[in-house]
Amino acid sequence: MPRLSRLMTRGALCVSAWLVSLSNHVSAATGFDPVAATEAYLAKMSPEARARSDAYFEGNYWLILINLIVSLLLSWLLLKTGFAAGLRARAERWASRTFVQTWLFVVLFSIVSWALNLPLDYYEGFWREHFYQMSTQTAGAWFGDKVKGLVISLLMVPLLVALLYAGIRRFQQRWWIVASMVTPFLLLFFIVLAPVFLAPVFNKYVPLADPKVRDPILSMARANGVPADNVYEFDASRRTKRVSANVSGAFNTIRVSLNDNLLTRCPPEGVMAVMGHELGHYVLNHVHRHVVYLSLLFALGFWFTNWFFHFALARWGAAWGVRGIGDIAGLPLVGMGLGIFLFLATPIRNTIIRVAEVEADYYGLNSARQPDAMADAFLLLGEYRKMHPGKWEEIVFFDHPSGYNRILACMRWKAEHLDELAAAKK
Ligand SMILES: [Zn+2]
Repeated sequence: MPRLSRLMTRGALCVSAWLVSLSNHVSAATGFDPVAATEAYLAKMSPEARARSDAYFEGNYWLILINLIVSLLLSWLLLKTGFAAGLRARAERWASRTFVQTWLFVVLFSIVSWALNLPLDYYEGFWREHFYQMSTQTAGAWFGDKVKGLVISLLMVPLLVALLYAGIRRFQQRWWIVASMVTPFLLLFFIVLAPVFLAPVFNKYVPLADPKVRDPILSMARANGVPADNVYEFDASRRTKRVSANVSGAFNTIRVSLNDNLLTRCPPEGVMAVMGHELGHYVLNHVHRHVVYLSLLFALGFWFTNWFFHFALARWGAAWGVRGIGDIAGLPLVGMGLGIFLFLATPIRNTIIRVAEVEADYYGLNSARQPDAMADAFLLLGEYRKMHPGKWEEIVFFDHPSGYNRILACMRWKAEHLDELAAAKK
């Protein structure tokens, strides 16, 4: 398994080395230099805007670590104080069947964790977003979203965890193998189907009425074999200033969705370019590829969690009142193991996603054929993503290519299509 991660990291290195080696070609005939053109794009951002987006994004690096430390501390406290064992004892008194006891435990535990995490969530999701002028939300609306999120997770998570623990009790030491086999189906559900049902809980979706924007997008979708027959607009602006779009669903739930910031902040060419990128994700089957890669990553994570659990149980299990891997009172310990693994796997997960984003960028360029509008859209993304990080910084922390590399790809594409673009202008 570690070889897999090495292979994937090496794959990312190959892609970035290849990007760098491609970038130095200056057209002899026209003198168009992709690197100089990229620098000119970056110069459109004021030094203050660059400094703000760098600070915002670099702060995220620390938050990854802070989130891990806080969640480890809270889990440790819930074990050390006997809270987890006490909660299990209460659930055992309230219900006779083990499955129901487990479900009850997770419901109560989820509410307590949600409340304990609220201060850090508030800092990250509300205070910091306002400080960097990204958010348009009031504190009340933000809290409303948090409550909705809790209710939805209470409908799904306790049931899933109760099923997981039924598996753990049955398969004991081999639970992680069975859990790994179920993971691809769960990921498919959560990545493909759940957004179609859950997104309308948080945003209002209306069919895009403007034929000037809608028709070229649907035409491009048809040309690329994407069976969507409607484009939706959703009201992201009541939360954030960020620009985004997506193609979601499968079979007869496929929909193209644009956020209203994209529509108000980008010209139609920019919207086309972003949609070309999104169609690329669909046509190149990135969701299915992500499901396979992430399932392998989770399999490794479950194995690690199993090892970590038994390591900790042997030392502190008796003091914390945790009886064994099948005891739901050990849930914080399972959370700690998985949390540590996911923290360490951050560069691998980012690289799996980033490599697909590079592909979708090329797909967007080739389908929308709007290198300048696309570069402008990438400049907008620079408001919350550091534009020009170091090579390793990008590999470790970036789940999308940096603005510099994305604009460079646009300018390289432009350099090879100067005649076509000039003819299109006439
Ligand atoms: Zn993308």
